[in-house]
Amino acid sequence: MKLILLGAPGAGKGTVAKLLTALDGSVQISTGDILRGAVAAGTELGKKAEAAMKAGDLVSDDLIMGIMEQRLQEPDCENGFLLDGFPRTIPQAEALNELLKKLGIELDMAVEIDVPRDVILDRLTTRRTCSNSDCQAIYNVKSNPPKVEGVCDKCGSPVVQRDDETEEAISHRLDTYNEKTAPLVDFYRNEGLLMTVNATSSDAVISAIKEKLGM
Ligand code: AMP
Repeated sequence: MKLILLGAPGAGKGTVAKLLTALDGSVQISTGDILRGAVAAGTELGKKAEAAMKAGDLVSDDLIMGIMEQRLQEPDCENGFLLDGFPRTIPQAEALNELLKKLGIELDMAVEIDVPRDVILDRLTTRRTCSNSDCQAIYNVKSNPPKVEGVCDKCGSPVVQRDDETEEAISHRLDTYNEKTAPLVDFYRNEGLLMTVNATSSDAVISAIKEKLGM
């Protein structure tokens, strides 16, 4: 499947994407994971992105399109892909349309995961992430803690709170979402590709997507 996952930070895009990859071999493409990996590795890309990420601002559209132009041409995308955290602005969505046209790829749909703000705030403040940039497994101190406190079940690396998950950065990320990313819902509605799911459980989101795709 070829899907865009839309939704505020903490709506569950990453969790849903990881579950969907198990269904048909589609790959998760998370621009946030790619950027965090670049910051951890100290690459040029990481150096350019780091300050904006830490403040909860968006990284420039040019930088993001450079990443995506390369990533969508890698062979593992042939089985399908789940775009998690991209596009984030109208110019990125327009540039993605051009890129997909150039590559001869058609999207199945853009899925908006709509979760109430109080649930999002609670999730983001209690979310913990594996610090190993090749893993980045997601935990929650209340609902899904690692078996050993602070240690990733999958790879044994420290599980930490992300730099951009302080209360101040979270509030800024949500404002940025409302201003820059929420307009994409109308963009994809106009393209005839929008599906909205109002669900706080990732299993319910997966079921709705499977039903819509006839899986
Ligand atoms: P995420 O893990 O998707 O919440 O992304 C973490 C941070 O990476 C965001 O707050 C942005 O600073 C940056 N980022 C990720 N994806 C994008 C994107 N498509 N456009 C601009 N900035 C992005």
